[in-house]
Amino acid sequence: MWPWALAFFSGQVAKPERVQAAEKTYTIAMDTTFPPFEFADKNNKRVGIDIDLIRAIAKAEGFKVQLKATSFNGAVQELQANQVDGVMAGMSITPERKKVFAFSDPYYQSGVVMAVAKKGHITKLSQLRGKRVAVKTGTASADYANSSKKKYGFKTVTFDDSNNVYQDVISGNSAACFEDKPVMQYAIATGLGLKLGNMKMAMANDYGIAVSKSNPELVKKINAGLKKVRKSGEYTKIVEKYLAMGPRPTRIKRPRKPTTPAAPSWAY
Ligand code: GLN
Repeated sequence: MWPWALAFFSGQVAKPERVQAAEKTYTIAMDTTFPPFEFADKNNKRVGIDIDLIRAIAKAEGFKVQLKATSFNGAVQELQANQVDGVMAGMSITPERKKVFAFSDPYYQSGVVMAVAKKGHITKLSQLRGKRVAVKTGTASADYANSSKKKYGFKTVTFDDSNNVYQDVISGNSAACFEDKPVMQYAIATGLGLKLGNMKMAMANDYGIAVSKSNPELVKKINAGLKKVRKSGEYTKIVEKYLAMGPRPTRIKRPRKPTTPAAPSWAY
């Protein structure tokens, strides 16, 4: 008999330490760039409200997350193909999506706004006739553009990420873009060369974390964790941390120190 078998049968095997049930790891797909929800900071580290929030939820509920950055549309498709466990990408809870996915409780309010070139003359929907409007593939903004393009007579052009959407307006190829309000406000406050157009927010919605309908257990965990982090104040801390980087009043310029002493007032 092998020595280990002997040891086993004679009960001499070291008792295994009490092993805790291994924490489950869930893969969550995110958008590439959607500040303040997910983006790369100066050091190319991926940060944002979504990232901090899902980590806090996972910690509160004892599971692990592996984050995967892809395009918004790519993330949604991967969830549909069951290649990831969830999508957290400033994703709007819509009736159509609810037919396909299960959603967590809402965690942020949003809606669609229009942005235009900072120095351009176009500010209204009625000025878009015959012009191009940039939107991101598969988003609520793209839906809004498609549903209103006939009425206002514009064409749409789609991109896979928000940066390209904005650049198309900045470069003058598109007369406007549609984007989520908190995202557009943040981008403008942090120096993007666009301004909000004169349009009422459309398609008011809430962000939620999308999960496969066949995984009610994960939805439960996320909702329980979300409740905990709201109650502990962590949710507010996370949101405030990122919003403080955005819509902040511009710095007051201090008068420069004169290089030569000012002439005494009686000299005049
Ligand atoms: N909230 C929008 C949607 O769900 C856009 C999301 C995004 O671009 N990441 O369609």
